[in-house]
Amino acid sequence: MSDPTRIPGVEGAIVRKGDAGYEDVRSSQLWNGYQPRRHPDVIVRAASVRDVPAAIAMARAEGLRVAVRTGGHSWCGAPLRDGGMLLDLSALRRCAVDPARATATVEPGMLSAGLSRTLAGAGLAFPTGHCPTVALGGYLLSGGLGWNSGEWGPACASIRAIEAVTADGEVVRCDERENADLFWAARGAGPGFFAVVTAFRLALRPRPAAIATTSYVCHLGEVESLADWATDTAEELPPNVEVAFTLLTDAGSGEVVVSLSGTAFAGSHDEAARALAPLAGAPLSAPPLRRAVAEPTSMEALYARAAEVWPERHRYAADTLWSYADRGTLLSRLGDALSRAPSAKSLVLAPLAPASRNRELWRDMAFSALGDTEVAPYAVWDDPSRDEVNVRWLRETMASVAPLGTGHYIAEADLSADDSRARRSYTAADWARLGALRARYDPDGLFHSFP
Ligand SMILES: Cc1cc2nc3c(=O)[nH]c(=O)nc-3n(C[C@H](O)[C@H](O)[C@H](O)COP(=O)(O)OP(=O)(O)OC[C@H]3O[C@@H](n4cnc5c(N)ncnc54)[C@H](O)[C@@H]3O)c2cc1C
Repeated sequence: MSDPTRIPGVEGAIVRKGDAGYEDVRSSQLWNGYQPRRHPDVIVRAASVRDVPAAIAMARAEGLRVAVRTGGHSWCGAPLRDGGMLLDLSALRRCAVDPARATATVEPGMLSAGLSRTLAGAGLAFPTGHCPTVALGGYLLSGGLGWNSGEWGPACASIRAIEAVTADGEVVRCDERENADLFWAARGAGPGFFAVVTAFRLALRPRPAAIATTSYVCHLGEVESLADWATDTAEELPPNVEVAFTLLTDAGSGEVVVSLSGTAFAGSHDEAARALAPLAGAPLSAPPLRRAVAEPTSMEALYARAAEVWPERHRYAADTLWSYADRGTLLSRLGDALSRAPSAKSLVLAPLAPASRNRELWRDMAFSALGDTEVAPYAVWDDPSRDEVNVRWLRETMASVAPLGTGHYIAEADLSADDSRARRSYTAADWARLGALRARYDPDGLFHSFP
C-alpha cells in the first residue's frame, strides 16, 4: 500500500489538512506566537534540495498554488496561506565555505548565528541578521539589514549567485550574466519572489578581530536632543560603526527610556575605540541611567542581547517605516506612542542608515533603502486575550508617524495592515519591473505573491 505521507520523488514528509498532526505542523511554521488563521491544504517538508523540483511538479499536477517558508520569521505570517501547498525548506541547512576564495555556498535554512559561528572558524564574516534565529532564505531575499551593514551593505549585496527552481520546475543558476533578471529580483523581492531559492553563493569578509560598543540609556525627555546630536555626530563616524536608537521600557523602573548605541567592527580594540570616539560626549541635561564607552563585546554577546530583545514564544505585531524626517521629531513621536503601549515588552528600534550610506553597495537590485532612518515598532505581548489592543497600538503608532514616512522595508512591513504596504516598499520603477518579471517567470501564478 502506498504511504500517504510520501510523494514519489520526494524524500521529505508531507502532511495534508485533516491528517493527525496537521495542526502541530501548521502552527510550527511560524516563529511568531500571534499567527494568521490560514490553512494550506498540504505541507511538504523538503528533506533536501532534490525535493524542491519534485514538490513543484506535484503542485502543478494537483493544481495547488505554492507558498514557501524557510525560517518562518515573517512577522506577518507571509508563508501561511489558505489552500494550496506550503513548501517548508527549513531542513536545508548545508553550508560549504571556501576560505581561499572567501566565498560560501549556503542553503536557505542556515540561521544567522549558525553562519556567523561557522565563518568565525575560518576567520571570515558576513552581514548576518541581528536576530540569531533568522534564516538566510527570507532574510537575503528581502535585502537583509544585518550586522555592520554600514560598511558591508545590505546582505543581499554580497550574493554572487543563486540556484533556484522556477514555476515550471526548472533548476536555474542566476547571477549578473545568467538569468540576470531573476538575480535582480532575488535581491529584494522578499515575500513577492516568484521562484524557490535552494542555494546562495555568498562573498565573505575578513572577520573583524574586535567589536566594541558605546552606549547610553537616558530618560525619554532627552530623546529629541540626543537624536539631533547623534545625527550630526554620525557624519563623523566611519562606516564600520553601526548606530541605533532603541525606545523601551526599563525593566527596573517601568519608565520608558531611550537608548543610543554605536557598535564598531574593527581590526583591533584600539581601532574600534578610535572609531567610536565621537560618540563619547553626548550633551545630556541629566546624568544618563547607564553609559558605556568603547566596551569590548563579541558576536555571541550581540546575539545574546538580540535574543532578549525578541524573546521566543511571544506574540508580536511589527511594522516598519523608512524616513528622511528629522530624527528628533520622529523618535519623540514614537517615544510618546511607546508611553501609551499596552505591553511593557513592546519597543521601537531605529537604526541610522542601516543599508549603508554608500549607495554603490545597493545598486541594481530590487532592494532600495527608501530613507536614511528605518524605524520598526514591535508590539510584544504574551496573553492571547490582549491581541486586539496590542495590534491596535501598533497601527496607531504607525499612523502617528506615517506623514514622516517615505516607504517600508519589505522584510518587516506589516503587509496585513493595508494593500499598499508592499508597493510602497519599492521605488515605482522597481515595483513595475517586479510585476513584469512575475508575469514572465510565473505566468500562471503558481507562487503566491505579496500577501
Ligand atoms: C526576531 C526577528 C528579528 C529580525 N531581524 C532582522 C534583521 O536584523 N534584519 C533584517 O533585515 N530582517 C530581520 N527580520 C526580518 C526577517 O529578515 C524576515 O522576516 C525574513 O523573511 C525572515 O526569513 P525567513 O526565512 O525566516 O522567512 P519566512 O518567514 O520563512 O519566509 C518569508 C517569505 O519569504 C519567502 N521565502 C523564504 N524563503 C524562500 C526561499 N528559499 N525561496 C523563495 N522564497 C522564500 C516566502 O515568500 C515567504 O513567504 C527579523 C525578523 C524577526 C522575527
